Amino acid sequence: MSKILRVNMTDLTTKFEDVPDKYRLMGGRGLTSAITCDEVPPTCHPLGPNNKVTFATGIVTGTNAPTSGRISVGGKSPLTGTIKEANSGGMAGQKLARLGIKALIVEGQPKEKGKFWLLKVDKDGAQLMPADDFVGKGLYETYPQLFKKFGEKIAILGIGTAGERLMSMAGVCVNDPENRPSRYAGRGGIGAVMGSKGIKAIILDDESGPGVAIANKEVFDAGRKKLVAALQEHAITKPGGALNTYGTAVLVNIINEVGAFPTRNFSDGRFEGANKISGETINETCKKRGGVGMTGHSCSPGCIIKCSNVYPKPDGTELVSVQEYESVWSLGANCGIDSLDVTGELIRLCNDYGVDTIESGVTIGVAMEAGLAKFGDSKKAIELMHEIGKGTPLGHILGNGAAVTARVFGVVRCPTTKGQGMPAYEPRAIKGIGVIYATSNMGADHTSGYTIAPEVLGVSGKVDQFDINKADLARHFQNATAYLFDSSGHCLFIAFAVLDSSSGLEGVVEECNGVLGTNWTVDDVVQMGSKIVERERAFNEAAGFTKVDDRLPEFMNYEKLPPHNVTFDVPDEVLDKVYSP
Ligand code: SF4
Repeated sequence: MSKILRVNMTDLTTKFEDVPDKYRLMGGRGLTSAITCDEVPPTCHPLGPNNKVTFATGIVTGTNAPTSGRISVGGKSPLTGTIKEANSGGMAGQKLARLGIKALIVEGQPKEKGKFWLLKVDKDGAQLMPADDFVGKGLYETYPQLFKKFGEKIAILGIGTAGERLMSMAGVCVNDPENRPSRYAGRGGIGAVMGSKGIKAIILDDESGPGVAIANKEVFDAGRKKLVAALQEHAITKPGGALNTYGTAVLVNIINEVGAFPTRNFSDGRFEGANKISGETINETCKKRGGVGMTGHSCSPGCIIKCSNVYPKPDGTELVSVQEYESVWSLGANCGIDSLDVTGELIRLCNDYGVDTIESGVTIGVAMEAGLAKFGDSKKAIELMHEIGKGTPLGHILGNGAAVTARVFGVVRCPTTKGQGMPAYEPRAIKGIGVIYATSNMGADHTSGYTIAPEVLGVSGKVDQFDINKADLARHFQNATAYLFDSSGHCLFIAFAVLDSSSGLEGVVEECNGVLGTNWTVDDVVQMGSKIVERERAFNEAAGFTKVDDRLPEFMNYEKLPPHNVTFDVPDEVLDKVYSP
């Protein structure tokens, strides 16, 4: 029987609770959002004592379901002021699930300011211990020391110095299978919430843990088989397929070609240096330089897509893992930088300081627009990242994200929604993703509803990228995503296969039915996804958000984006129809 672990940082206590009936059939984002809605006052300060940070495993996480090692981290976001869920691969999700813990809730705030703690969880229980030896250190220094202290087989959920300093772009870092600090629940500043609770790292040791109970093994196995087949057949997800060979950066040339690759702080839709930072170039460089370089790397055990990579320096030693699409775009094209060695260095700094690569790149783009550096100036971009790491006054401005930086320096072209930096798809050139950015409960977030699949890739049918009537598409994608991927515990990248395969889609639902002993259909789970989105929206409304917040920044309405010379011309009525059909 799985449990909820509640950690109170005011009185430094831990206790295990039975899972209430209302949460029994939930997982991942569905569960973090339900707990946030039930226990966090919507108007509380995100960094104050009344916010909580919740870690929840996906419904099938910890089983042998393929590509399902996700962990969701949720609470009220210091970046957006909205409800937030960010999820990550790596080692933590499966270990937390196999410890029999459905959700771990951290609440309260230490009485002693500036004091940090480690939370160790194993089969015997949970204990807090001082983290004095690790405070003020980057994660490339902290993680090896923690593995030395607690053994190589643990998982770590940790924050870097940005989280300790309560910066709004701080993420929660998870180690990958080789124990690098490289995977992130990055978006929305949940690392700062963890920092505000005085937790430097959570150590998970699942040795001899109870594992994940499967109510109906036959149903689970049948579902698993269908999903594995769908993943192994689809051109994008199969072994030797696009993601496996080139990683997510396979999208660089594709999105650049359709004129939607945001360049130099969203002033152009095409980047002349795109090919130099593409998945194809990552693949060639790994082969050419050899050494530790590899594509087809897995971020967590049991992934059969394996979209990750280890990028080598010229001498074949490791520069960083992982150079993925969003990161090479944000720290590359968006800053006018066309070198993978530079994006690799910047990603490594993000991993070390514990910040979201998307928010970092969007913020540096805004800083470049403000004149703090010239677009394309790699040296300056690296210096700006160090400002964040050192926690200088400028670093604190930058570390609080693109919207704060734009306000401080008077930059009008500020590509954010609800205070969160936009990801790597230009909404003026791909309207559906713009509708998602505008209306998502999480601020600008492509993972809320990945409409790029039909709008660009032709997955689940082809939709015209310029068509402005996308309210139904956006609603459907948001509802389906909330349960099928974000709550089930599967990585979003299974979407390419299951959107094109009804059998694969059924497989995901059957896996969940197998674990929970339910008898749901695909329609049922999409309906449940809509309830998750509605609940999150109610939280945001109670926090003071209205439909006026469901808009893209004004400059996108009047500034024409090359090469198609388009504005964001989706009428407000269409945006409002996402929630009021
Ligand atoms: S597809 Fe990529 S991001 Fe998703 S679980 Fe596998 S390696 Fe990780």
